[in-house]
Amino acid sequence: MPQSRLPDINTAFIRYRGEAIHALQTKNWSAMHGALNGINSLLPVEYQVVISTQDHEQLAKTEISYACGSCSEAIDKSDVQVFELMPDSMQSLLYGRTFNKVWNCIKCHSTNMLNTTAISQTMLQNPTYLGIVPDPPERKNGLMDRMKFNIEIERWGWLLLNEEEFKMAKFRDDNWNKGDEEMGDIDNSLDDKEGDK
Ligand SMILES: [Zn+2]
Repeated sequence: MPQSRLPDINTAFIRYRGEAIHALQTKNWSAMHGALNGINSLLPVEYQVVISTQDHEQLAKTEISYACGSCSEAIDKSDVQVFELMPDSMQSLLYGRTFNKVWNCIKCHSTNMLNTTAISQTMLQNPTYLGIVPDPPERKNGLMDRMKFNIEIERWGWLLLNEEEFKMAKFRDDNWNKGDEEMGDIDNSLDDKEGDK
């Protein structure tokens, strides 16, 4: 992309952002969609925010893992099967338990006691820029639903706008940090011609 295209994209972005914020404040949802789609379209595909409930759920899910005491590997919860094991006589003597809850590591196959296993939880927290937002909420019938819809779509609009701002900032950084001094004096005659430098 020619450097000279960047200020145009930036100007269009600032205009769309103003329109999006105004639409959000006045609850004009169709104008909001128009402006937010406009911002996304300005960006090259690799910088666009993906709108997909399925992809978003996949990325935003909580990950729980169990640390194996033998090999120290973090094992995903879905790979851990907890079962009960009869304790040996020494353990019965020490802990007074009739059964031990244990699980086997899928990496090194050693058996871990559940009550001494370190369990870690990785949860994505806001504000986290995932580059993906869910599909917009859909309007259904009924008064109650309309109120709920207004709250949900407003939240969704801000979420998408914040994601787009993040992508736009990244896009600018990636493309402008090479030579900021070039930005001072833009020669429009070079528009859409690459490789002149
Ligand atoms: Zn292991």
